Amino acid sequence: MVSSPKSVIVTGANRGIGLTIVKELVKDSGIKTLIVTARDPKTATDLHSIKDPRIHILPLEVTSDESIDRFVDQVKKIVGDDGLNCLINNAGAAFHYTTNSTPSRSLLTEQFDVNTVSVVILTQKLLPLLRKSASRSTGDHLSISRSAILNISSGLASIADNTFGSTTAVPMLAYAMSKTAINQFTKMLSIDLKKDHILAVCFEPGWIKTNLGGPMAQFTLEEAIPTLVETFYKLNESHNGGYFYRDLKPLPY
Ligand code: NDP
Repeated sequence: MVSSPKSVIVTGANRGIGLTIVKELVKDSGIKTLIVTARDPKTATDLHSIKDPRIHILPLEVTSDESIDRFVDQVKKIVGDDGLNCLINNAGAAFHYTTNSTPSRSLLTEQFDVNTVSVVILTQKLLPLLRKSASRSTGDHLSISRSAILNISSGLASIADNTFGSTTAVPMLAYAMSKTAINQFTKMLSIDLKKDHILAVCFEPGWIKTNLGGPMAQFTLEEAIPTLVETFYKLNESHNGGYFYRDLKPLPY
């Protein structure tokens, strides 16, 4: 019997994969608090239309420290002494770039800021709340109902699987590198936080039709995301530090 996380954060939840993760999570009546983020909550009409009293829609621009600090303060007030069970770092963007692009420091920096630096900073600032929830259970088990950091990475993050250079269907040098760094971050978290009983895992959800994935992608959100969310519930200490496809098939780093 898998138990539910009491509280979950999903970043970048106003559309695409984030929104569909939220639609799946609301089906779990064991979840008491779903904190979901949008850069501009006023325009997050799809999130508002879910109409579930457990959902708190908070503003978050992940590249702004002020926005992160305001967000973390609000989360503290919402979750209180229970702490936070599960952080899903989903917000991300993809900028086109290859080895042969006109060199652009600003594009590379912006890509790493959104997909990598912001994930590190937000996760670090939420660690006290993740530790708080982890410490409420005894024993060494790990799960999303205890305390977990789930990073939405990409298949393009894999160094071992890279047969395409910097150009796959689209030019993805900057994006792929920013996600490779997320995989390393996940591995480091899994080692550093094991003693705190916090699980850290990263995922390749599959190539999915969203603004980011584009219309030629292989899967619809409805085909892919229910499986991904089912997988979240199956995670335990044997998966800590792993990189998985949405069906929990291990991928090579
Ligand atoms: P979308 O473009 O549909 O959604 C991206 C989400 O991230 C939006 O909610 C967007 O908010 C948010 N976001 C982007 N930049 C920021 C920022 N600076 N601050 C806060 N939020 C931000 O993409 P997907 O749903 O496809 O992607 C979600 C995640 O899945 C990403 O991390 C992506 O890399 C990953 N992924 C996607 C794949 C795919 O095929 N679709 C494959 C592998 C991984 P806003 O609406 O305000 O822009």
